[in-house]
Amino acid sequence: MIEENKFLNFSVFTIPVLNDNYIFVAKAHKTSQTWVIDPALAKPVINFLQDKKYKLTAVVNTHHHLDHTGGNLELKNYYNALILAPKNDPITADKKLDTNSKLSFAGEAVQIIEAPGHTLGHILYYFTESKVLFAGDCLFSLGCGRLFEGSPQQMTNSLNKILQLPDNTQVFCAHEYSLDNSKFALSVDSANLALQKKTTQIQNLRNQNKFSIPFKLGIEKQCNPFLRSNAPEIKKYLNLSSSCSTVESFAKLRKLKDNF
Ligand code: ZN
Ligand code: FE
Repeated sequence: MIEENKFLNFSVFTIPVLNDNYIFVAKAHKTSQTWVIDPALAKPVINFLQDKKYKLTAVVNTHHHLDHTGGNLELKNYYNALILAPKNDPITADKKLDTNSKLSFAGEAVQIIEAPGHTLGHILYYFTESKVLFAGDCLFSLGCGRLFEGSPQQMTNSLNKILQLPDNTQVFCAHEYSLDNSKFALSVDSANLALQKKTTQIQNLRNQNKFSIPFKLGIEKQCNPFLRSNAPEIKKYLNLSSSCSTVESFAKLRKLKDNF
């Protein structure tokens, strides 16, 4: 099942593929501008676009992993679309993006946020008027990406950039990991009422086979242990002193989750 979320100037269609990946299609309300974000595969995207009679204008990537780029070239060739990709990740692209890139979609500015950690070049796409964030594998609901290439310091900085976005930001992450993530989150932050409430909501959605995304950033700031590395409760659970740095706390938390 494909779900549609409507925003001010565009809709986002979420296409579930593989085990737990999401591919997103953003379609402007008033023009034919159509982006696909992180196409693991081409076929399900082509089927969807043909069904809707949309024509793809750009293929957009958050990072280089195959479960986010596997459909790039087939989609580019099929639609004669441009590939937009992070400057510092190894992806064959028509346009390489960094924090200074000027992009717009459906008449609104799209801000590129450099967010290294999961990969060194990982970027986020923030649609500034609708307040929609495509977070790739940097931030998940109740979790964050594994540090395949970057350091705890880099990932902490990346998550801090996300923390500065408005609470009413809607986040689309690229995997359905929420339920699994809730188990770890509850293990380290068991008394957190907001986390308990969010976990119940995730369970209800997943029981109905619905997606747990997009999710509201404001609630995530209260629930996600990786956005709360600096919280006294988390540091206490990790047996760290309350004066230790956020990076140290984050690093210990991430390591614990890797072995959970
Ligand atoms: Zn990845
Ligand atoms: Fe991924």
